[in-house]
Amino acid sequence: MAVNVMKHCVKCTRVWNQLARCQPVLSRCYQTNNNGEQVADIVISGGGMVGAAMACSLGHESVLQNKKIILLEAAPQKQFKLTEKLSNRTCTLSPASIQLFERCGVWPVIESMRCQQVLRMQVWESCSNSLISFNQDEMSDELAYVAENDVILESINRRLNEIKDRIEVMYSTKAENIQIPGGLDEPDSNAWVNILLNNGQTLKTKLLVGSDGMNSTVRKAANLHTVSFDYNQKAIVAVLNISETDNNVAWQRFLPTGPIAMLPMSDTAMSLIWTTSPEHADHLRSLSSESLVDAVNDAFWHDRDINQVADNFTNNFQKLLNNILPGESSLRQLPPTITGLQEGSVASFPLGLTHASNYVRHRVALIGDAAHRMHPLAGQGVNLGFGDVAKLTEIITKAASDGSDLGTLSYLKEYETSRQRKVLPVMATIDGLQRLYHTDFTPVVLLRSLGLQATNALGPLKNKIIEKASD
Ligand SMILES: Cc1cc2nc3c(=O)[nH]c(=O)nc-3n(C[C@H](O)[C@H](O)[C@H](O)COP(=O)(O)OP(=O)(O)OC[C@H]3O[C@@H](n4cnc5c(N)ncnc54)[C@H](O)[C@@H]3O)c2cc1C
Repeated sequence: MAVNVMKHCVKCTRVWNQLARCQPVLSRCYQTNNNGEQVADIVISGGGMVGAAMACSLGHESVLQNKKIILLEAAPQKQFKLTEKLSNRTCTLSPASIQLFERCGVWPVIESMRCQQVLRMQVWESCSNSLISFNQDEMSDELAYVAENDVILESINRRLNEIKDRIEVMYSTKAENIQIPGGLDEPDSNAWVNILLNNGQTLKTKLLVGSDGMNSTVRKAANLHTVSFDYNQKAIVAVLNISETDNNVAWQRFLPTGPIAMLPMSDTAMSLIWTTSPEHADHLRSLSSESLVDAVNDAFWHDRDINQVADNFTNNFQKLLNNILPGESSLRQLPPTITGLQEGSVASFPLGLTHASNYVRHRVALIGDAAHRMHPLAGQGVNLGFGDVAKLTEIITKAASDGSDLGTLSYLKEYETSRQRKVLPVMATIDGLQRLYHTDFTPVVLLRSLGLQATNALGPLKNKIIEKASD
């Protein structure tokens, strides 16, 4: 890369104007160099929920105050207006994600717009009567919240707008061609990343963060090996109406065709996420509203799949558990009856798994779906992305405090190791659960039912599960 035409500060390696002395405390060294190229300390490519959260999180670090940080988003800026109409895309935010949002001042904005508390979760299956539930007392104050993706993104963007002197957001701007210096094995420590934008401009940066989703251009440009497969399943999403007003339970039932879940969105609305075969999903989408409502109610209530052998065993096992651990097993609640659905809210998404074997290389780090995309059955995808944001922020601020180059591989490797330790077990568990419940073969039904019942009866084990899902 030809950097000889640019003047760099020897201390902070920023490009600076020949007429001005480099005084990082007074001004960020964001300049256009002699070639008309823009230069930034950090470029984040992809302003979805995870990339926008990354920009916001970095913008709140005082040690990065004098760094030039740019967020690129391919889509135009959305003109969001909170209406009564609810969006069909939602996320269950874990306590750790809420903590990140509190630190960046995003959480009060989400709360002021719209979100719904989850005080109880009930998970059960259709082949036996085994179930597991998590209650408010067990969760103590570690509660989850369901929020619409649009509300989350709008809240982050509002905060970004408030700190626009620290973070520059470029909408309708796509990173089209990315050149990363050095090979995977021989990182070039001095050269910077070159990004050609769709408007013909070139950006140069010391650290490129890829938050550009499952088909990440950054990941491809960095030549990072990826494991990827389709589940041959689609998720049907919709906004459902219920008559109840005390709506704070998340429901999930495993059917042999895939899990169906309802998450509380407001006092009288539920977010549906129904995973099933592509053919069945297409059939469901072709139904009238009334027939789809009937199909959802049926999916939560029917007992056609009950396996008698497994059911007899689990009933006896439950009696035994009740004798050994009286009071430990939670009561079964009945899901609410769906009374209708919000017009135009039905949509479907193909499901797959993607995992980058490495999340970093010299001057590059991947976060969110660009690094790991998983089955939505445990509602962990974006939460893991927000976990990436928290860890990468910590690593970047550490590099800045040490006076090091922000794109140094040894720092980024610490981020990768820490995140892969967290992400890989979660991905393996979710993939395993997906396979375990995708069959009605009697021995498998029996084993999983007994396992679920035993876990439900063991308070400490359940607490451990809640603890793990919270961070
Ligand atoms: C049906 C369903 C339900 C789900 N439910 C949950 C849940 O309950 N909880 C949960 O945690 N997760 C859930 N997930 C997963 C969650 O939606 C994703 O993990 C999350 O949206 C990923 O966010 P992201 O910002 O990493 O990627 P994306 O949302 O894909 O954002 C990528 C952004 O990058 C931009 N971009 C792309 N290429 C470029 C480029 N070259 N230059 C500039 N910008 C670019 C795009 O325009 C986009 O805005 C669910 C997923 C599905 C399919």
